[in-house]
Amino acid sequence: MTISRQRHATHEVLNQVSPLSDYDVADDAALIDGLRRQGGGWAEAELRELGNLAGTVATQDHARLANVHKPVLRTHDARGYRIDEVDFHPSWHYLMGIAVSHGLHAAPWADDRPGAHVARAAKFMVWSQAEAGHGCPISMTYASVAALRQEPGLAASYEPLLTSPVYDPGLRVPQSKAGLLAGMAMTEKQGGSDVRANTTTATPARDGSYLVTGHKWFCSAPMCDLFLVLAQAPEGLTCFLLPRVLPDGSRNAMHIQRLKDKLGNISNASSEVEYDHAVAWRVGEPGRGVRTIINMVSATRLDCVLGSAAAIRQATVVAANYARERRSFGAALIDHPAMTGVIADLALESEAATTLALRLAGAADRAARGDAAEAALLRIALPAAKYWICKRTPLVTAEALECLGGNGYIEDYSLLPRLLRDAPVNSIWEGSGNVTALDVLRAVSRSSDAADALLAEIDMVAGEQQVAAAAARLRSELKEAAAAGPAAERDVRRLAGQITVTLQAALLARNAPGSIAGAFAITRLEPGGYGPATPFGSLPAGLDLPQIVARVAATPAG
Ligand SMILES: Cc1cc2nc3c(=O)[nH]c(=O)nc-3n(C[C@H](O)[C@H](O)[C@H](O)COP(=O)(O)OP(=O)(O)OC[C@H]3O[C@@H](n4cnc5c(N)ncnc54)[C@H](O)[C@@H]3O)c2cc1C
Repeated sequence: MTISRQRHATHEVLNQVSPLSDYDVADDAALIDGLRRQGGGWAEAELRELGNLAGTVATQDHARLANVHKPVLRTHDARGYRIDEVDFHPSWHYLMGIAVSHGLHAAPWADDRPGAHVARAAKFMVWSQAEAGHGCPISMTYASVAALRQEPGLAASYEPLLTSPVYDPGLRVPQSKAGLLAGMAMTEKQGGSDVRANTTTATPARDGSYLVTGHKWFCSAPMCDLFLVLAQAPEGLTCFLLPRVLPDGSRNAMHIQRLKDKLGNISNASSEVEYDHAVAWRVGEPGRGVRTIINMVSATRLDCVLGSAAAIRQATVVAANYARERRSFGAALIDHPAMTGVIADLALESEAATTLALRLAGAADRAARGDAAEAALLRIALPAAKYWICKRTPLVTAEALECLGGNGYIEDYSLLPRLLRDAPVNSIWEGSGNVTALDVLRAVSRSSDAADALLAEIDMVAGEQQVAAAAARLRSELKEAAAAGPAAERDVRRLAGQITVTLQAALLARNAPGSIAGAFAITRLEPGGYGPATPFGSLPAGLDLPQIVARVAATPAG
């Protein structure tokens, strides 16, 4: 049988877009400008180094492998002894090692330089574009210090190891290790939002420790060395520090029941655990567990914003890169007006998310150094941004995926399927949508400090008519919400969105190119509805779309 040449000609590969790799993930004007503005400019060289590493083929392969080879739980050894170990693929350890050695975990708490938390935030944003799942234990370790400091004795023992730049996996006595990781266990079967209903108990022991008995329905990263746990002490819900290995070298009675079979966030092991008289030490005042652990929750909420802003940027860059190379109907996709509009709309979303994320990191940095006004701004702007930006992420990643047409849906063509699977989790963590939005209302109702700090920040824009009009509307709605109290709950999502978008518009007006700031204000500040008309890409005429789209380009590593 002869095979005709004609038939083989149809196998020629045409119009396929080269994989997006070996590019500098940190080459993002909004990120670099924000880093400098918020006091972390001294970290730019390291940020670029990490950006180049995040974009390499080798790192992308580690990310893929860490997600293809799921963590595996081994509850018992061959002889039947409980071991409660989780095995990870070596690529997971690679990603963790880079994150810890670059100080993405608790390092800024040991760094006196102003802007240390901002530098860490920017690095976290860049490296989470290598792979997002391992950000969970990194983030919890960062946040644990904020709660641990409520108990100075424990902080003195463990903080130097939590801030150490050494990734030292394996279950051993914490004090014998070169570096530690920390997790958090609050959520129980009956509910995670209402932690006051927790049933896990903590019984005082004679030596000042407590014995914890109960369960946690979600406990991510169970291979961490230490956990901050909520349990009912005689005085009420209290925060505890619970080690996996006790000072005498024996395993603490924390038994991993199973690993969760999850939609996304696959590389990260999330588990169900039971405690059977597990030894723990109290952190903060007895009966004030929520107040103690809220310090940790606030820091992890910041990371939810940073991680989501990073995912929005990454999805947009992948989509723009594809649309520049791929052709249809005789032109590059990006030059077809309807596609230019989609990419431009995503670019606006990305610019606003990154700019606000870094402003919040700056506020967190200054609040940690005692700045009360920045703490007040954070009190309202952080839950609002956590609600809004995390909610935008699945929408953006889905739209970006479609820019690649059918290829976007294919696992080995781009990382967009993984980004889409990973996108919703930041909104669920640390207060799911409604709960986080309700926290905005709490901030408004308790005192006027938070709303005043927010409005002062927005009012720093002078002469921008649309922003000024939006600020006036927000001022009166904040006043109404404060007066209405719980009656304002029904409308709280809209308020959280309005706060975020108005603040984003104000920050862009002060800091971004006019084409971006103007287009954002025109498309997002309409009274009554906040955010663009969705789906993305429904932009009005008269905007400088090519200039907006130019902000999302992948530049080769160098
Ligand atoms: C992958 C993954 C990893 C996780 N890792 C951890 C971990 O390491 N440690 C940990 O402690 N937890 C962890 N969690 C749990 C997570 O924090 C909780 O799922 C979350 O806090 C919500 O709690 P819940 O699932 O019990 O939902 P519920 O509390 O039952 O809430 C269900 C829904 O009702 C809404 N809701 C609740 N109360 C109100 C109200 N008053 N008004 C209006 N709406 C309301 C919520 O917003 C939510 O949408 C993890 C979750 C996931 C998915």
